[in-house]
Amino acid sequence: MIYELTIGGEAVQGEDFFSVTNPATEQAFAEAPRASRHDLDRAIIAAQESSADWARRPDRRERLLECSKRLKGQAVKLAKLLTQEQGKPCREALEEILGAVRVLRHWAERPLPEEQVQTADGVRAFVQRRPVGVVAAITPWNYPVILAIWKIAPALLAGNTVILKPSPYTPLTTLEIGALFREVLPPGVLSVLSGGNEIGEALVSHPAVRKVSVTGSISTGKAVARSAAEELKRVTLELGGNDAAIVLEDADPARIAPEIFWGAFKNCGQVCLAIKRLYVQARIYPALLKELKHIAENARLGDGLDTKTDIGPLNNANQIKRISSLVDDARERGAHIITGGKRRDGSGYFFPPTLVTGIDERALLVQEEQFGPALPIMQFNDAREAISKANGTDFGLGGSVWSANLARAREIAAQLECGTVWVNQHGTTHPEVPFGGTKWSGLGYENGLRGLDSYTEFRAVYVPNA
Ligand code: NAD
Repeated sequence: MIYELTIGGEAVQGEDFFSVTNPATEQAFAEAPRASRHDLDRAIIAAQESSADWARRPDRRERLLECSKRLKGQAVKLAKLLTQEQGKPCREALEEILGAVRVLRHWAERPLPEEQVQTADGVRAFVQRRPVGVVAAITPWNYPVILAIWKIAPALLAGNTVILKPSPYTPLTTLEIGALFREVLPPGVLSVLSGGNEIGEALVSHPAVRKVSVTGSISTGKAVARSAAEELKRVTLELGGNDAAIVLEDADPARIAPEIFWGAFKNCGQVCLAIKRLYVQARIYPALLKELKHIAENARLGDGLDTKTDIGPLNNANQIKRISSLVDDARERGAHIITGGKRRDGSGYFFPPTLVTGIDERALLVQEEQFGPALPIMQFNDAREAISKANGTDFGLGGSVWSANLARAREIAAQLECGTVWVNQHGTTHPEVPFGGTKWSGLGYENGLRGLDSYTEFRAVYVPNA
């Protein structure tokens, strides 16, 4: 199978390549093209040349709808490829792709709001929407498909042209989606360039790019913000999280345990909005721990292509090193490893779901984003203590509160310093609800009207009253 870049509506074979590894086997199974500076320049020219026509086209919605249909038609085939490069169980891969199908349809059908201001003192103005221009969309390796579509769909609807760069760990499904959409979108409207961080850096710092939307780590976000500042590019940054879940003593341990467990361990914990710290009120702590341990010990770890697998491997060698070192640090500080705790022998980046108790709040597993299958579980007596610890980091992506008393849960939710709070659930998103992080977890929003507006410039036109 040959994977190709998409530039100016054409398939472009790379001059250089890099290997893509299947994390379940540690074997390189495909080669992806490494886009060059010349490829980038061509993609930029194509994006600029198609901008004016695309912004005027009356059929942008129809094209998005057609992209949605084509993606749906290839969903099963692409899910298998996504599992091979990313590691997640095939049904999660399919869920991700079908989620992207729905997001494309959502934007294809969403009206663009029109705004008119008429004030009591006689001012009348129309607020017109215009595209920003060429958009750089940069994605990570944990959800390469849905996170790309979160950017592409509203950006294209708003009339922008897009250059998409996936992570070097998971470029293949994105390249295939580029090939699929090539048949639907006019040349230059969407280009896909795979490669390492260097092509990402070159793309975001290119003077012709007017808006940069990055999902990735906090350090990448800061580097992009610095580079974008030079030319005052618009930026949306969706970065790391360290979500706390706070469980009150009136919650039912048996009922909530599966949702909490999968809120932490879905996609092997490699989810920006996974539960990464669990605070449990003392009275139900033993019962909840017992339930979680039972689920962890019965979850099937394996190759995502095996339909019986519940948890796949970590995505790459760095991730397995990182998780191992965070768990070792906790252990050295006197924490108890209730289950899991070390890499599985043999090939593949497999690390079993790991529950850690009795952990020092200053341990790296509590303070940093683990982005993997190791969950620190802490006890508290007073909810104020849990809220203060949940808020006591530089992260601010999400959080959740679990209680039988919804009013009490909402009261606590209102005190959490993060972009999303869930009550008796963790991780739900919807294309109509804004998603973004506070503090170091991000800048700006995706989804919803605020997401759409981030791909829009506004022009106020004052007119006299009729
Ligand atoms: P990463 O920051 O290493 O890479 C993300 C992407 O940025 C890749 O495509 C990479 O090639 C590119 N990149 C790296 N340096 C760059 C630079 N200087 N300029 C331009 N592009 C650059 O992140 P990752 O390891 O792929 O993903 C994991 C991180 O992403 C975690 O921290 C996770 O929490 C975060 N994440 C956040 C969200 C969210 O919506 N907030 C969603 C998913 C993942």
